Amino acid sequence: MEAPLEKKLTSALERLAQAQRVLLWQTAEPLGLSPIQALILLHLHLREPSTRRVGVLAQYFDLTPATISDAVSALVTKGLLIRHPGRDRRTHTLELTPAGLEYVDKLKDWDYPIQHALRALQTTQKEALYDLLLALLARLVEDSVITVVRMCLLCRHLHSQSGKYHCTLLQKPLLAPQLRVDCPEFSPGAQPDGRC
Ligand code: SF4
Repeated sequence: MEAPLEKKLTSALERLAQAQRVLLWQTAEPLGLSPIQALILLHLHLREPSTRRVGVLAQYFDLTPATISDAVSALVTKGLLIRHPGRDRRTHTLELTPAGLEYVDKLKDWDYPIQHALRALQTTQKEALYDLLLALLARLVEDSVITVVRMCLLCRHLHSQSGKYHCTLLQKPLLAPQLRVDCPEFSPGAQPDGRC
């Protein structure tokens, strides 16, 4: 019997996730890093300083603070991260060392083969795919399958009307391909379709 389309779609997404896991491992392993250590370095490089903490990383990666703490300790031991004590002395802010930044440079193109494959698609196909993935992510957040996604479609600053978007915080229109998946100014509160 033919599998339902939803099942075929989840199988396709699983194969993509598997490809991502393999590519990340192939890039991280020669550098002596585990996949989660590599992801932490890449993530910290992109994140604003106030969110560079173990608790925030644990939420983002949906892992326990103990797991993230172990990975961070290994990165500190390797000289790739520094822990700075916070004001309350119980939390620490994490900072990449110059060696850590060099590792980020070596890691940053870990997903190049997937980007390369995407480049072969037409622009309209990529925009349609992005649109669908954003809608799927928003639905999974609403169903509590994913906990942390700082995306426009779930942000109270996004207003949409007749298929046009506007960010009231940045005070500018956003075309659908400009909608963000991880915005530092995100503030929760919108419906999954972006209507406020
Ligand atoms: S603040 Fe960021 S997440 Fe919110 S609507 Fe504006 S660009 Fe999107």
